[in-house]
Amino acid sequence: MAPPCMRCHSRHLINLESAHKLGIAAGALAGSLKSAYGSLYDVRTLTVASSTHLPLSRVASAVIAGASGGIAGAAAGNQMVRHLLPPGDGTPWLCLGCGHAFRVLA
Ligand SMILES: [Zn+2]
Repeated sequence: MAPPCMRCHSRHLINLESAHKLGIAAGALAGSLKSAYGSLYDVRTLTVASSTHLPLSRVASAVIAGASGGIAGAAAGNQMVRHLLPPGDGTPWLCLGCGHAFRVLA
């Protein structure tokens, strides 16, 4: 149950701890998809250009690019939410009414 905002008493708050985890997952997913897509796009142009090229190695490199992109994406998502987190202990909340971030000790 979300506490009311300390500044504007709005009850529209999000738990930054869940947003933190979600940000990491979303960032990792976006990073993986973007890198994998970029590598797979190369596969298509390369296969058209030279029929002797084995696409298997390109798929393998696409998987590796996707994995490393996921790590970079996760780091970006992590940093994005960490920037919002107020320092201290307790559960971090972000008010959607006024943008005030604060912590509530359980
Ligand atoms: Zn507020």
